[in-house]
Amino acid sequence: MIELAIGVVLGGMVSWIVSHTYYKKSSTEIPDWAKPIIEKLPNNKPTKDQLLKLFEEELISGNIRPDPILGYVACPKCKANATDFESTVVGNNDHTIVIKTCPHCGWSEDTEV
Ligand SMILES: [Zn+2]
Repeated sequence: MIELAIGVVLGGMVSWIVSHTYYKKSSTEIPDWAKPIIEKLPNNKPTKDQLLKLFEEELISGNIRPDPILGYVACPKCKANATDFESTVVGNNDHTIVIKTCPHCGWSEDTEV
């Protein structure tokens, strides 16, 4: 299940890393979750497959911890680490909604669990 969710967000994260690492190197602060990957990147622009492989290795080794409910590695809006998310649980016995909020930019998303 979690692998599925990661697959959905990986594409966006990978292209974000590529664009920030190779096109905006000097102007961007690299978030913590991306550092282990960026440090291992070759000097030349890697292929998407290479990036995905790096991502997988970091996930397996535990350096990247996606949000256990949403599967996000980082905030979709400000790219803060997903481990910073705040959770609010609402609902009753039949329905439980978890609201995840990013404390840095106010982004939030809810999902039924
Ligand atoms: Zn955010």
